[in-house]
Amino acid sequence: MVKIEIRKKCPRCNEYYTGHPALSRADNKTKICSKCGESEAMISFALCNINSKEIINDRLNVIGSFISGSSGLIHLHLIKIKDILLEKLEKEE
Ligand SMILES: [Zn+2]
Repeated sequence: MVKIEIRKKCPRCNEYYTGHPALSRADNKTKICSKCGESEAMISFALCNINSKEIINDRLNVIGSFISGSSGLIHLHLIKIKDILLEKLEKEE
């Protein structure tokens, strides 16, 4: 029996993917590819409870280490997160 992999198009990055989709955190119903799911999870992790300089610096360190090992869309997302964090950090000071 031949296993047919159904290709689905991710509405977030417009790329085709196979396998299990992830649920977008934006509306909890849009199915997106696992890469996008990962990057959304990263964004919400990075931006939750950032209410002190220490936490922001901590998150910047984590994001920084992810940026160097990432590529494509996720890379762009991470850079965006970093910008948001840096902006927050400026406001804290
Ligand atoms: Zn995607």
